[in-house]
Amino acid sequence: MNELQKRLETYKRLGLKLTPQRLAILEYLENTREHPSAEDIYNALKDRFPSMSFATVYNTLEVLIEKGLVKELSIDSSKKRFDPFLHSHHHFICKQCGKIFDVERNFDILIPEELKEFEVSDFQVVFSGLCPTCKKK
Ligand SMILES: [Zn+2]
Ligand SMILES: [Zn+2]
Repeated sequence: MNELQKRLETYKRLGLKLTPQRLAILEYLENTREHPSAEDIYNALKDRFPSMSFATVYNTLEVLIEKGLVKELSIDSSKKRFDPFLHSHHHFICKQCGKIFDVERNFDILIPEELKEFEVSDFQVVFSGLCPTCKKK
């Protein structure tokens, strides 16, 4: 069973209605590591699904977030970006082209003294700067 099939099983189990448009959105998310925005997804699929509205993309993403199947990233201040990879990982955002890259590395970070009374469940390291392509320009 490949990743997509596994995900489809999960969606079915959660009682998600899988329309062809929703499937295409899921497939698109599954096959990109660029952390697309809702606009990116819509633009990539609108030729294949001329009747699909931007709201369909947006609503599908909302459902996926609600079910905990997609993470919403607030790294990009101009728009929300989406990440189907739920395991703990970190990111690099290019200030020029806006691409977000995954950083798969464990950072040993000590919980700061100020947070001693808190229950910390997650943290994220965000690097920013220029990606190799933009650096060359
Ligand atoms: Zn770049
Ligand atoms: Zn990511």
